[in-house]
Amino acid sequence: MVTLKSKRELEIMRDASRIVGEILQELRPLVQPGITTRELDRIAEEKTLKRGAAPAFKGYRGFPRTLCTSINHEVVHGIPGHRELKEGDIVGLDFGVIYNGYYGDSAITVPVGEISQDLKQLLRVAEECLYLGIDQMVPGNHLSDISRAIQTHAESHGYSLVKEFGGHGIGRRLHEEPMVLNYVVNGRGIKLKPGLVLAVEPMVNLGGDQVRILSDRWTVVTVDGKPSAHFEHTIAITEHGPHILTKVA
Ligand code: MG
Ligand code: MG
Repeated sequence: MVTLKSKRELEIMRDASRIVGEILQELRPLVQPGITTRELDRIAEEKTLKRGAAPAFKGYRGFPRTLCTSINHEVVHGIPGHRELKEGDIVGLDFGVIYNGYYGDSAITVPVGEISQDLKQLLRVAEECLYLGIDQMVPGNHLSDISRAIQTHAESHGYSLVKEFGGHGIGRRLHEEPMVLNYVVNGRGIKLKPGLVLAVEPMVNLGGDQVRILSDRWTVVTVDGKPSAHFEHTIAITEHGPHILTKVA
């Protein structure tokens, strides 16, 4: 069931999402060669609790940590650990909180030190895919308009989109209906209405679209070993268009 959020609910979701956006922006400069993903996770959890929120992912279907950290060919759902980031890597930081009963969810992919031109373009295009998808979030459009904008832009650069995972409705639960695919299937999907809140999250692969899950039962990696980038915002549809709740100035 797709739920529309009331004005009051949207206010709480704005607070939850702002916490997510602020903490991600605080983590960004800490991504440097030598830091471990476990240390980033520890800092994220400390900042979450300090703001009176709770980590959304820790304990979700048994996920053990606050952040998902996905390095290079890891697509999403990487588990923070003792591996040190090194110059030239890219790392996806996916993060959510629950605050006053509502969830916020966002992700960024960050360069570690200086990265190659190929990776710079991958990050730029993946983030552009997110914003082009968000631009479609106006009342009267359909869900597939978001998917099409994302797919068209990524494929115009020769990239591919992960099919097995996508965005989602969000609210009192982390994952609500509808699923927001990053590629077009048959049908236009539901009509977009004010009060609908979605987490849009393109996962853009430099190579092929095939992915597999590692034996840790979480980490999703590309089959061809090529890098992947992931960006996500939580966005409310208003009468005037999209309002990005996880974006901080
Ligand atoms: Mg997320
Ligand atoms: Mg999400």
